[in-house]
Amino acid sequence: MADVTTTPAVFILLGPPGAGKGTQARMLEETFGLVQLSTGDLLRAAVAAGTEAGKQAKAVMEAGGLVSDEIVLAILKDRMADPDTKRGVILDGFPRTAGQAEALDGLLASTGQRVNSVISMEVEDAPMIARVAGRYTCAACGEGYHDAFKQPATAGVCDKCGGADFKRRADDNAETAGARLTAYHAQTAPLIAYYKGRGVLETVDAMADIASVAGAMQACVKQVLA
Ligand code: AMP
Repeated sequence: MADVTTTPAVFILLGPPGAGKGTQARMLEETFGLVQLSTGDLLRAAVAAGTEAGKQAKAVMEAGGLVSDEIVLAILKDRMADPDTKRGVILDGFPRTAGQAEALDGLLASTGQRVNSVISMEVEDAPMIARVAGRYTCAACGEGYHDAFKQPATAGVCDKCGGADFKRRADDNAETAGARLTAYHAQTAPLIAYYKGRGVLETVDAMADIASVAGAMQACVKQVLA
């Protein structure tokens, strides 16, 4: 059991695009008072704000490649210093390379933290393209929807907040999703063995329905926070 009374717990969600990392991270955030840190979200904010890092990241993200470790690490390090991360964080989309995993270890060691649990969300490749290509979110609250799998109960109105504006990510199309899947297998999937060797890996069947996956994920988190 981790001593999470004094140091923030660190959870990592591993899985290809479309596995449901963002959806599940938001649910864990609400259930356990943890903070979701999505490097994809942080990078999209940097792109929207037109920062130097955002300008460098934009084209790479649009092509479905990986942004340089240097940029991603700088963005993550800044965010991890914010006071709202005190109870613990759920890293969503980070680390994505062996270099990032090692850098994360160093960053956590400097504050007396460590990776407490890595949840690998296991899915089949083929359905991921369709999952990614049809998804969109409420612009106001971020609730996720999908053209085929999850429409709002009232067309054009967010179930959660009543918002009427929805947005789609520029990289959520079939072509870019394929490139992102390839990048996942080449550079991120090897981290499963890395964390297994460290004894912190849990696996969850993420092909199941959202509620069942959430139950399995909560059980993993409870083992650390109990
Ligand atoms: P995501 O929102 O996690 O699907 O990330 C969207 C895009 O942001 C990815 O396809 C990458 O181009 C970039 N990105 C997000 N996180 C990372 C990371 N840890 N390392 C490199 N690139 C990243």
